[in-house]
Amino acid sequence: MTPTREKLGDLKRRAGERIGFSDARFLLEHATGCTHAELIASPDRAFPDEVLRRFESLVTRRAAGEPLAYLIGSAWFCGLEFLVSPAVLIPRPETETLVERAGAHARGIRRPRIADIGTGSGIVAIMLAKYFPDAEVTATDVSDAALGVARANAARHDVTPRFVQSDWFSALDGEGFDLIVSNPPYVAFGDPHLLENGLPFEPQLALTDGVAGAGGLLCIRKLIEGAIRHLNPGACLLIEHGYDQAARVRALLAEAGFSGIRSARDASGIERVAEGIQKTED
Ligand code: GLN
Repeated sequence: MTPTREKLGDLKRRAGERIGFSDARFLLEHATGCTHAELIASPDRAFPDEVLRRFESLVTRRAAGEPLAYLIGSAWFCGLEFLVSPAVLIPRPETETLVERAGAHARGIRRPRIADIGTGSGIVAIMLAKYFPDAEVTATDVSDAALGVARANAARHDVTPRFVQSDWFSALDGEGFDLIVSNPPYVAFGDPHLLENGLPFEPQLALTDGVAGAGGLLCIRKLIEGAIRHLNPGACLLIEHGYDQAARVRALLAEAGFSGIRSARDASGIERVAEGIQKTED
């Protein structure tokens, strides 16, 4: 390995011109295995060619639209760092609203049984397991690869939710929950948004139901249908949905006989999470 003579500052500047200085910084940290502080402290440090080639290749992939989170293998959510791979959706800030609403419901229940349906990287289930240590959290996903990522995240954050491979509720026969939460695929099939902002690199299974004309609501319908059979009386269902789906999701909950139906807004002021209470037996 021949040490290079190119100065770190020059390298970073060249990359920054292509992909922005913030992303260049993160990729340089990733390629070199050095922290930002170490890189700042030794601007004249030389790296082996192999490290530089790794950095160049990451910069080229980023310039072609691959999300930063997949390139560095992690992303932040609710102030915690989670592992991600292309098998899972990259955490979005709007999902914090789902966690907030779930927390508001879980707080009032002793040893709540919580299910996170379609957990992906596990962020929602892990946040709930972390902040409600007496909760029994079950996290499902149809994708084995996603469950692998979720398990690694649970270990990283020192919690032990139960992970179950399940197509919606298929593996949860006969089980009842006090709270069911989900961030299901809800982008309408064919929505141009699926072609932007790195979404083509994300698992389409997690983003859209893949059915033209369904308005992105097919999975939300399945979720509501299944939840009815798995919510204890008086228990709550929380669903994250698209920016323009709030009224339709509330209507679906009303049709399914839920009460206490309301929507919560995300940090951008958009109605993002619908909730409904399962009717109590009378
Ligand atoms: N909020 C995501 C987006 O619009 C979609 C997440 C999802 O389908 N569950 O990019």
